[in-house]
Amino acid sequence: MATSKASSRFLFYGNSLCLDFVNTERMREGARVDLIESADDLWEWMLESGALPLDAVESGKRQLPGEVAVREAKELRAALRGMARQMAAGETVAPEIAEMLNAHLRRRRGYQQLTLGEGGWTRRFHSEDAQGMDFLFTLVDSAIDLLSGGQGLVRQCESNHCILYFFDTTKNHRRRWCCMEGCGNRHKAAEHYRRRKAKDSRHETLDEKTPL
Ligand SMILES: [Zn+2]
Repeated sequence: MATSKASSRFLFYGNSLCLDFVNTERMREGARVDLIESADDLWEWMLESGALPLDAVESGKRQLPGEVAVREAKELRAALRGMARQMAAGETVAPEIAEMLNAHLRRRRGYQQLTLGEGGWTRRFHSEDAQGMDFLFTLVDSAIDLLSGGQGLVRQCESNHCILYFFDTTKNHRRRWCCMEGCGNRHKAAEHYRRRKAKDSRHETLDEKTPL
């Protein structure tokens, strides 16, 4: 299972880049919070998640995303949340969401390159995008991978107080929680408390019935 990086305020429980981006909106102390409020936030997430194409990082020429990029990223995130919700509900993903992904694909400028990396030969897309939007394509790619390979395996955390999504890659496909340390443990503790209370009240009832 993916984990959250120790010092990060972002969560990487999704097992999918596009779901990790959806999960930049989360619940905290009962309120919904958005972790992407500025271009700096977006930049930080792009670096931590690996959404930024490597050659853009390596070249060192990368510019901070502008306000337009933040707005477009949030629009895409809203569509990806819709996609996650529909996939988790076993519904067909709405045509307007597919069209939005297609619109991003049509805008893409660049070419595929054969590259020798640490793990051997890989295909890498070299972006010629000059607007700083290439990370959106990485998210779109991830969404397309999920749509084509993740049917029936996208879930929302079962906690009523949680809005996080994940791609269930467990062997038996029965993952229920965004993470065991958070919602999983809270559920376990609540179940334990509920069972103890039920047991206590059974004892009380028995005590009442027992003649002195
Ligand atoms: Zn959760």
